[in-house]
Amino acid sequence: MVTRCVHIFFCFVAKINTMRGVMRRSFPRYASSFKKHFSDISTPARSTVLDENKKELKTALAGLLQNRIHVGGFLPFSEFFKECLMNPEYGYYTTKRTVIGGASADFTTAAEIPIFCDIICGWIVDVWNKMGTPRRVNLVELGPGKGSLMCSVLRQMQTISPALFQFVNVHMVEAGTQRMEEQKVKLKDFQTATQKIQWYLDIDSLSVTGTPTIMIANEFFDALPVTQFTKDPQRGWLEAVVDVDEDPSQELHFKLAQAPANSFANLLIPDDVPKDMTQIEINTYGMATMEKVGRKLIDSGMGACLIIDYGKDEYMSDTVRGIRGHKFVNPLLSPGDVDLSAWVSFKQLRWALSRWSMAREQLRSYGPLTQRSFLEQNGIDVRLLMLCKAAETKIGLNIISNWRRLMEDKMTSDDSQGMGKNFKVWCVATANLPPPSPWLKK
Ligand code: SAH
Repeated sequence: MVTRCVHIFFCFVAKINTMRGVMRRSFPRYASSFKKHFSDISTPARSTVLDENKKELKTALAGLLQNRIHVGGFLPFSEFFKECLMNPEYGYYTTKRTVIGGASADFTTAAEIPIFCDIICGWIVDVWNKMGTPRRVNLVELGPGKGSLMCSVLRQMQTISPALFQFVNVHMVEAGTQRMEEQKVKLKDFQTATQKIQWYLDIDSLSVTGTPTIMIANEFFDALPVTQFTKDPQRGWLEAVVDVDEDPSQELHFKLAQAPANSFANLLIPDDVPKDMTQIEINTYGMATMEKVGRKLIDSGMGACLIIDYGKDEYMSDTVRGIRGHKFVNPLLSPGDVDLSAWVSFKQLRWALSRWSMAREQLRSYGPLTQRSFLEQNGIDVRLLMLCKAAETKIGLNIISNWRRLMEDKMTSDDSQGMGKNFKVWCVATANLPPPSPWLKK
């Protein structure tokens, strides 16, 4: 009877769609099939299209990249990806004002859901306990976006572990200058005269030597550029490159092409890629970043990094999406104004670490698990009950709706994808740390 009531309650709740925005990584309806791609979903706003031909208005970055291609030839797709997001003057994360959040933004993430942040905070406290409650500890966030996750985690930490809150030093690794400004405003109440919170443009500038360190990366790795390859029967793997598209009947100023010959990046294709794969995406920047993360964990003497992102523990192809105004668009559209994101191959990230003997000796890998399992095993249902008990009905329904978004494969309310299965949680920790929750043994 109780189960039935709960079921009816959830069905009712399903009709309420509070998180209206597309969870960036939970692709709605059409995106469950990878095959539907680029042009199928490219929808430039009509206001950005010129009358005399079909071309969209050129962004400042598009002009700059066109010049680069005219002068220097094809641009590797990964380089185009990087420029779109991180060009210092015109990049998406470096300059666009509203990126994450409600209707006026482009996408939203789990960091905007407080119950998710509560579980992450609980996980951090658990790791700190397993470290032996050190009095100096670093909490590092990679790619903190709006700063929402860190803000909620610190607020929760004040309540559930005031001692850790006292001891912790927070380090925000953020390459997007505009995002950094947003984070500084969001976290201003936690900043102290002795700079409890510090910012860095890259992981290299972060020094953690000898201090236990906990790292969190939510939806960070999917924002790192990938390299795409197509297999040619004669020439082997050829990298995807971007060329200028002069054809006035095409909306875009750019088109994809194949590199005329093998490139240096071919060295990064793992040996065990299945023979029948004719296309592959390599998380080139992701793998390099993973090596840096591993190095920092080892340097710290004792540490753990939690990585949450949509992806799979296998090789994939053709997963890059452009996202603007909560819709998927062609990734070559409006450079600098569109978010770019790719699924994360956890297999490749693991491979990046396994190639390195020090990492094999001193680091341990846990997972990846589905986000649903991770949250479930870390007590999200208990937290849900506590929050609902304390909340008024309307707020309670909102909390349950968000819980569903985090846990389910598919939202019954709007048929969009939930985050429960597509998102994975993976942890890398130093071998001297007892297994972090929910992993029990190694
Ligand atoms: N973690 C946040 C934001 C995800 S969006 C959330 O869950 O809401 C990706 C974030 O990573 C942005 O803040 C972006 O500026 C940052 N980022 C992307 N590439 C980066 C890089 N190479 N180094 C540091 N930060 C980066």
